[in-house]
Amino acid sequence: MSEDPTTYLGLIVEVDPELLVVDDAEDSIAVRDEPGSAAQTAGEWPSEAALLADVATFVSLEEWLPEFEALDGVERDESVARLRVFLKACLTCGGDLEEREDSRNAATVEVSAPDLSCTDCGAVLF
Ligand SMILES: [Zn+2]
Repeated sequence: MSEDPTTYLGLIVEVDPELLVVDDAEDSIAVRDEPGSAAQTAGEWPSEAALLADVATFVSLEEWLPEFEALDGVERDESVARLRVFLKACLTCGGDLEEREDSRNAATVEVSAPDLSCTDCGAVLF
């Protein structure tokens, strides 16, 4: 994707893209909107690939599903995040995605969520 992801992120988090700051940390990407000094986290993703996936899904849903716009912010965020499990290739490098069994979290995770990551670059999608 050649576009700056923050352009579309503005749509997702309903914030002016100009105000968004992408905070690219080692194990996660946080997007903050920073009006003046009060920095606020607008969204957090496990990797840039996950962020790009959500942005792409969001844009597609807006385009193809008129009802999508009628949903409130939380419902939209959840729909977009859930669709991430259906991805077939890594958004960053195009590598294969593989589900991992993470037994460490088995006791604490309430709903069984797939743990999806790229076999090539290791980007965590879910
Ligand atoms: Zn990858």
